Amino acid sequence: MNIQDSIDFARSLDRVDPLRSFRSKFHIPKVNGKESIYLIGNSLGLQPKTTKKFISEELDDWAQLGGEGHVHSRRPWLYYHKLAKKSLASIVGAKPSEVVAMNHLTVNLHLMMVSFYRPTKKRYKIITEAGAFSSDQYAFESQIKFHGHNPRNTLIELKPRKGEFTLRTEDILQAIHEHRSEVALVIFGGVQYYTGQFFDIKNITEAGHKAGAIVGFDLAHAVGNVPVNLHKNNVDFAVWCSYKYLNSGPGAIAGAFVHERHFNNPNLPRFAGWWGHDEGERFQMKKGFKPMAGADGWQLSNVPVFQSAALLASLELFNEAGIAALRKKSIQLTDLLEFLLWQIPTYGKDFVIITPANPDERGCQLSLLMKRDGKKVFNKLTQSGVIADWREPDVIRIAPVPLYNSFEDVVRVVEVLEECLRK
Ligand SMILES: *Cc1c(COP(=O)(O)O)cnc(C)c1O
Repeated sequence: MNIQDSIDFARSLDRVDPLRSFRSKFHIPKVNGKESIYLIGNSLGLQPKTTKKFISEELDDWAQLGGEGHVHSRRPWLYYHKLAKKSLASIVGAKPSEVVAMNHLTVNLHLMMVSFYRPTKKRYKIITEAGAFSSDQYAFESQIKFHGHNPRNTLIELKPRKGEFTLRTEDILQAIHEHRSEVALVIFGGVQYYTGQFFDIKNITEAGHKAGAIVGFDLAHAVGNVPVNLHKNNVDFAVWCSYKYLNSGPGAIAGAFVHERHFNNPNLPRFAGWWGHDEGERFQMKKGFKPMAGADGWQLSNVPVFQSAALLASLELFNEAGIAALRKKSIQLTDLLEFLLWQIPTYGKDFVIITPANPDERGCQLSLLMKRDGKKVFNKLTQSGVIADWREPDVIRIAPVPLYNSFEDVVRVVEVLEECLRK
């Protein structure tokens, strides 16, 4: 297919796309006065046009009501954390009581590890993927040291086989089995930030449990991108941020999941704060922490209302679109992107796609490993109005998201990339 044929084809797909109206509900950034081709929803999702309204309403209520707003505003601030529950639960496949929006991702990762990484002399290891996001690596390392262990023999980082770019599930399961008498925690990214690999949550969780370990996931690149079914898959805990696929703005409020089977375990240690305390007596300021039932019991502080308002604006769009429809379109967008990239004559010489080709093993992101002049090509892309992202040492990530990217965006980026490679 030549480019013009591809564009006509893409437009015909856009015309029948049931989600096509959602693009106009977002602000699309401009480059040189022209709408950019924005493909980094995996890094910072775009701003829904309703976000301003949601935040303005809170500013207005604060202006008019002052402290009374805690109880008498249109979305009373005292109970604000409850408002996102239902939507978040449906996005991550959980019960509303199992999820809560709070803090930031790395903070939540630490809070979860305080409760769920309980190393003993014999069982102390953490199994994870090699090359995890830096913040996660720092969290693991510091938690291990905090418990008096040595990261060198405690953190088991699994690498792909020689000549391969992503991990095979069988190798992950095998490694968990090998360390079965010493592993305390198995923790993976839901979708790996660098390669875009969507890990097999069900089987990794099952293997971890069989080995006697706790299993958690960092869903930074999975939430709002792929189905993770946390409850059904028996995952113990998960954390995520909301500024990537959840479009809640820079530094947005993050989230956490705790499986309900842990709710009644009185032996779980946790770092507590008043917002996790039984809400019936929260303001009695009494001694003795009594956690709220559910994930809410891990909250520390009162709710950051402006950030949470931005989350609500975005979740409203997810509810309207429906996550099944989003995933369906996402698979189609990424399949088309992959197909067109394969057609570039210098595929294999200039770059290769390292993200798995199986749609069940990836979300919307494709990672292009650049074999020469990667950074230069990337800079040219940027100058041409394509917003992709560069991850050291040699990867360009492209993520067409189903809420606001079109099939035409996908054709255009390949067209521009081919030009940049030729120059
Ligand atoms: C984006 C991302 C983070 C960022 O952490 P913050 O606490 O939100 O700053 C951490 N881990 C992973 C895997 C990420 O993709």
